[in-house]
Amino acid sequence: MNFKDYIRVIPDFPQPGISFKDITTLLQDGPAYRASIEALRELVKEKEIDLIAGPEARGFVVGAPLAYSLGVGFIPIRKSGKLPAETIEEDYALEYGKDKLAMHADAIRPGQKVLIADDLLATGGTISTSVNLVRKLGGDVVGAAFLIELEELNGRGKLDGIDVFSLLTY
Ligand code: 5GP
Repeated sequence: MNFKDYIRVIPDFPQPGISFKDITTLLQDGPAYRASIEALRELVKEKEIDLIAGPEARGFVVGAPLAYSLGVGFIPIRKSGKLPAETIEEDYALEYGKDKLAMHADAIRPGQKVLIADDLLATGGTISTSVNLVRKLGGDVVGAAFLIELEELNGRGKLDGIDVFSLLTY
């Protein structure tokens, strides 16, 4: 299956000069969505994984079905203030200003092997913040998996030493 046929590219969104990769057109097609998650599972099959962690919101639509398919747990990484129990937090830089990502403090036991998943790797800011959260709890980050990697932004450079798996590259 050529998954790129299911990705809609929107020029100048959310601002001029950005070519936005819209995955909603993939998600709305049942066979294509399922096949993309199965293909991602195939990419990470050599990895021993205890848990998958994904940042809101599009990390949920990739990470949760991948976790379900592997039969492992899923940990939501959310914006600060959304999770109900005790959290740990980590600052991250946005294009405009700063924000915080949070994870439940008891989400991971030290030594558990965690794969981080999101829809898209751009500059790597979101994922390196997620890596820091997992490591704060003693989790072992075994890799990061994406539907899409924007190669020229070199997000991999921020994920030094972490195996990066991406289904599609632009
Ligand atoms: P980064 O933190 O790597 O710069 O940006 C990645 C994050 O921004 C991901 O969580 C992703 O959902 C979102 N993102 C940035 N650009 C795009 C895009 O073109 N398409 C989609 N679907 N998400 C994007």
